[in-house]
Amino acid sequence: MIRAPAIVSLLSYPIYAAGIPRALRALNRRLRRVAILNYHSISEGRLNGGYRSCLDLLGMEVPIGSFKKHIRYIKDHYTVVGLDELVVALANNCELPDNGIVLTFDDGFRDNYTAAVPALKDHGLTAAFFVIGDAIIGEHPVWPHHLYLLLDRLSGKPFTFSWESHEFLNCQRLEDADKLRLIAQLKHTKAQVPGSEAEKMLQAMCDQNGVDFQQLLNEPLFMQEKQLHDICEAGHIVGAHSMTHADLGAAGSAAVAEEIRMSKEAALAFCKAGFFAFAFPYGTRNNYNATVIGELQKNGFNCALTTIEGLNGNNADRYALKRIEIGPFNKIELSTHLSGAIGDIKSAVKYITGRNRNADLRKKRVSKAP
Ligand SMILES: [Zn+2]
Repeated sequence: MIRAPAIVSLLSYPIYAAGIPRALRALNRRLRRVAILNYHSISEGRLNGGYRSCLDLLGMEVPIGSFKKHIRYIKDHYTVVGLDELVVALANNCELPDNGIVLTFDDGFRDNYTAAVPALKDHGLTAAFFVIGDAIIGEHPVWPHHLYLLLDRLSGKPFTFSWESHEFLNCQRLEDADKLRLIAQLKHTKAQVPGSEAEKMLQAMCDQNGVDFQQLLNEPLFMQEKQLHDICEAGHIVGAHSMTHADLGAAGSAAVAEEIRMSKEAALAFCKAGFFAFAFPYGTRNNYNATVIGELQKNGFNCALTTIEGLNGNNADRYALKRIEIGPFNKIELSTHLSGAIGDIKSAVKYITGRNRNADLRKKRVSKAP
């Protein structure tokens, strides 16, 4: 099965062959548009038995070998600047850095510390790491990451799961395609239950498949205090990514206030003095709103990052900064994504489909009118 991000990446080849990334790069330099890259996990490779991890299947994992190539390419073609430098320039209406690029990592995976940070150090580069409050404390599972971890553990093994009236997959061998199907089904089910129920659902999945829930929680999946202090000392930025990795766009105002206040408290010990950054979990336009941004401002956050693909110019909104999601790209894919070409195409498609949808709705309203 070819995933949607992989299909988008296929567009890179004709775009690259037409010389568009090179032309856009020159234009971006003139307009001083800055790209903020968004990485997640930096891995060592395939699981036991050759299975792919859930993060790999979802395009959120970059093997360390590819990551090192990315860093070399970025060093050769761009100037890596700190997120704080970019935000200060935007806040003060100053000229943005020339040919600038910002590196960010979401979710605070332990492999960021063991793999990404040493590779960045080799090139004298720094990045911003967005951590989930519950992941630092380690008492509760983090959705969806502990689910991914559990499915990865069960790869190639028999799998069964039922939850209340919901029936899920039963199979003799959990294959990569089954994992993707289950993730989609569980995402839908999770959206219908309160936060604490999701933890019970995960615990039930462990029990039904002979996995010790507490042991799953104890897996060193995320960076803890020691690693965060280390990366802070090495000059990296640590930012907040909510308390429970909640969809803040769907949460009530009291829950939003709590998520933001507590996640700032959890990340505060590792924050660069006077600079507080936030990355919206999931990060699309549906996952934040004016209430969320108002709470961030009330809590003294200087900026917020989305996952909406695009570059940031002088008029960029500091509380809705665009990023470019980075997968295990080769040089052609990386160069095309960094130029902003894929983001521009996605925006154009969204604009056209949105305009068509609105036109259809108008037509329906007119035909329904008495
Ligand atoms: Zn996240």
